[in-house]
Amino acid sequence: MMTRDCRIGHSFDVHRFRRGRKLILGGVEIPYAFGLAGHSDADVVLHALMNALLGAMGKGDIGIHFPDTDPSYKGISSEKLLQRVLRTMKQARFRIVNGDVTLIAQKPRLTPFFKEIRRHLAGLLSVPEERINLKAVTTEGLGWVGEGRGMAATAVVLLEKRRSR
Ligand code: MG
Repeated sequence: MMTRDCRIGHSFDVHRFRRGRKLILGGVEIPYAFGLAGHSDADVVLHALMNALLGAMGKGDIGIHFPDTDPSYKGISSEKLLQRVLRTMKQARFRIVNGDVTLIAQKPRLTPFFKEIRRHLAGLLSVPEERINLKAVTTEGLGWVGEGRGMAATAVVLLEKRRSR
């Protein structure tokens, strides 16, 4: 019997809000008074996704692949970094079964942007939209998320490794 070789990956990422930065989530710019601080464009959704993908492949994390001590990654679009992770995936014969992302934020209200972000993510990952889910929770006003100091995201992905023939 042929069994499928599936691998799961999980991750968690956090960024602080900073005035004067763009808020980019899943490659989509969201209108808000604050953006996220970081070495790259600080796209917390794509960071969580990339780390989950690398985790599933057993290939470390984005800090190893794209160190923030390297000036070439300063201000870089996380979409560019994702393209590199996807190339690694292809070379290692992995395909995405599905992914699930949870945003943890008190503000701004993100639900109105989910449709667009989801469509964009599906395009970046080359999967049908039903295979990539996006949702958000608040922390009921508790802690640094509740105080609106930053935003977090978690991601889970399932990959299938194709057999070499
Ligand atoms: Mg990050």
